[in-house]
Amino acid sequence: MPTIDSAYVTRVLQDLVRINSVNPDLDPSAAGEGEIAAYVGGAMAAAGADVRYHEPKPGRVSVVARLRGSRPGRSLMFNAHADTVDVGGMDEPFSGDIKDGRLYGRGAFDMKGGLAAMMGAMQSLAGAGCPHGGDLLLAAVADEEYASLGTEDLVTRYRPDAAIVTEPTALDICLAHKGFAWFEVTTKGRAAHGSRFDLGVDANMRMGRVLADLDALEQDLRARPAHRLVGPPSLHAATLAGGSGLSTYAASCRLQIERRTIPGESRAAVTDEIRQLLRRQVERDPSFSADFEVLLVREPFEVAEDAAIVRALAEASTAVLGRRPAFVGQTPWMDAALLAAAGAETVVMGATGAGAHAREEWVDLASVHQLAQCLAEAAIRYA
Ligand SMILES: [Zn+2]
Repeated sequence: MPTIDSAYVTRVLQDLVRINSVNPDLDPSAAGEGEIAAYVGGAMAAAGADVRYHEPKPGRVSVVARLRGSRPGRSLMFNAHADTVDVGGMDEPFSGDIKDGRLYGRGAFDMKGGLAAMMGAMQSLAGAGCPHGGDLLLAAVADEEYASLGTEDLVTRYRPDAAIVTEPTALDICLAHKGFAWFEVTTKGRAAHGSRFDLGVDANMRMGRVLADLDALEQDLRARPAHRLVGPPSLHAATLAGGSGLSTYAASCRLQIERRTIPGESRAAVTDEIRQLLRRQVERDPSFSADFEVLLVREPFEVAEDAAIVRALAEASTAVLGRRPAFVGQTPWMDAALLAAAGAETVVMGATGAGAHAREEWVDLASVHQLAQCLAEAAIRYA
């Protein structure tokens, strides 16, 4: 088994947390991923990897380090996002302080702990003479917390056979996550003086009909058979705005809907559900009129329990942890879906901690060291 240099992993993680890599689309005063990408690239080059930088948009930098195996084999990508959400309300977001085995700071848990473990695995494999087969890639990507520019760009440049995304899972193995679709419905009315019911058409009241039917659809969604790992699908009426003043009939009303999808649900099917709901309004009242727009769709993700990468990671983790990790699902969307859609057999495993997107964030250092060991061992077993 390759030996992980725990002190190296801790030092790297502390450095990563001390670099501000807040996503500039979430906080315009942030500079992007350039500095953290340079740090990761420098460290991986020093460990003996070939390093390349990719910049899909100015200042939004991803870095990929490649370590060639000492024998032919399948290629594997370790993938982590290097950006974080903003630091609003945090006392010391970039401290990297360690207390009672926990390392604190924005991104420590989501997901610089995962990134540091990947770097520790690469460094240890390089030091052991690259006992893995094929190409091992480490990708530290930009912009996962906003629009996934980084991974969307990388899947056009690299075609790994498999990928391990190190989003936090408390050292369990995540085989599935939910997707989502964002829709916008705008009902049409006719503005008129509030006294002129004979002229006005109330777009807000019409949206009320849509909302009542959406409420019924929402209850139906959660009564459908749940996915064994991620549960049932759901939707919510996220934002609502209509009308211009108390004495005016509302000319339009805009509703934004978020629909959370589960593996097996297609983009076409979930979009059609909403279209049909709107069609039924017109059948009931031919004067009903609404615009419908699909704003963004992110697919759900699922990998088979017996996929080669899952088997390799499960066997490696059992050997390292002395217990077989649980197979779990998670509800938030991840870059895993993009890698899987691009043809890489993908699985998710990450560290233990708390406070993603919250005011206090920390990662359990021992879990980061163990994760590094699991990753190195999985790379050898997979390829
Ligand atoms: Zn994350």
